Amino acid sequence: MSLPALVEPAAELTVDEVRRYSRHLIIPDVGMSGQKRLKNAKVLVIGAGGLGSPALLYLAAAGVGTLGIAEFDEVDESNLQRQVIHGQSDVGRPKAESAKDSIAEINPLVNVVVHDVRLDNDNVMEIFRGYDLIVDGTDNFATRYMVNDAAYFLGIPYVWGSIYRFDGQASVFAPTLVDDAPCYRCLYPEPPPPGMVPSCAEGGVLGVLCASIGSIQVNEAIKLLTGIGDPLVGKLMIYDALEMEYRKLKVRKDPNCALCGEHPTVTELIDYETFCGAISDEAADAAADATISVVQLEHMLKEREEGTRDFVLVDVREPNEYEINRIPGSVLIPKGDFLNGSALEKLPSDKQIVMHCKTGVRSAETLAIVKGAGYSDAVHVGGGVVAWVNQIDPSQPSY
Ligand SMILES: [Zn+2]
Repeated sequence: MSLPALVEPAAELTVDEVRRYSRHLIIPDVGMSGQKRLKNAKVLVIGAGGLGSPALLYLAAAGVGTLGIAEFDEVDESNLQRQVIHGQSDVGRPKAESAKDSIAEINPLVNVVVHDVRLDNDNVMEIFRGYDLIVDGTDNFATRYMVNDAAYFLGIPYVWGSIYRFDGQASVFAPTLVDDAPCYRCLYPEPPPPGMVPSCAEGGVLGVLCASIGSIQVNEAIKLLTGIGDPLVGKLMIYDALEMEYRKLKVRKDPNCALCGEHPTVTELIDYETFCGAISDEAADAAADATISVVQLEHMLKEREEGTRDFVLVDVREPNEYEINRIPGSVLIPKGDFLNGSALEKLPSDKQIVMHCKTGVRSAETLAIVKGAGYSDAVHVGGGVVAWVNQIDPSQPSY
């Protein structure tokens, strides 16, 4: 099912533009009218990270007239493995500025609008307003639900994508454009339980996967803007890079959807951090009076060396994370062993247990389990190994 083009054609293309876009112009489906529509299009890309990098580069090269970039972060060395819009000399610069410079190099005819702020309930509607289409390259659930809801309230369709390790997904959500089209909440009514789904920072992502999914998003964006082909509305594309398999599933509109259903309960923006929960209630309770800093931990480790104190320092990350960096004197027992109960057999009953992970989210979850098993003096390390590397041992690599 094709949809009407989202954008009216611009009056004309200049001689320079005709030369630049000639390979588009000779495709009958795109042609002069499609390219003029791209010229008139205003597309907002959320995030200039894994998905945003290829999306911005190809949208710019394709001749989308106005490109918005919503990104507040700075370029980190660990981004360069996949965020190809940034280069070595951009490390430490705002990602939005770095992306803007790369776009100017690829296509100086694009008007770039930088939104160098963290999207929140106070600014999201104002930032979205005026764009024809949104490309969502967000990496967290709270922002995803906010993007979905704000786009719905404003009647703006959007192209969604997500990536993790070797797996990617993409879809187009356009419930205000097509009668029976689903929204993100129809597909995922509830966010996953906190701590259940690791982020890319915790679980990793194959760099080139970003290009696979980001280019699908651009492909869909171009189809929607110009009104060609059969867009991924009501369909979920699932990509498995290891098996090299694409599958397309039908996604139906949920008549009970809290947002776009028959009796909506979400009628304005909600508190998305609370909705998605940073950590579970149990973990928050367990960590409330049992969180130590890396400075405290360093002191405790010295005392253990001197023989005036004894405890077991447990790293609950995965083995491949442990190979990258570690706190000296820690033993590795991955979080999964706590969930299935086998970890408890490995813990001495007569020593204090000190737990840490990458940033403190997973260790708060395992802390709740260990405390529940009777280790009432167990603690976890706030900020995890990231804080350790930043504050105590900068000679170790971070990730
Ligand atoms: Zn819905």
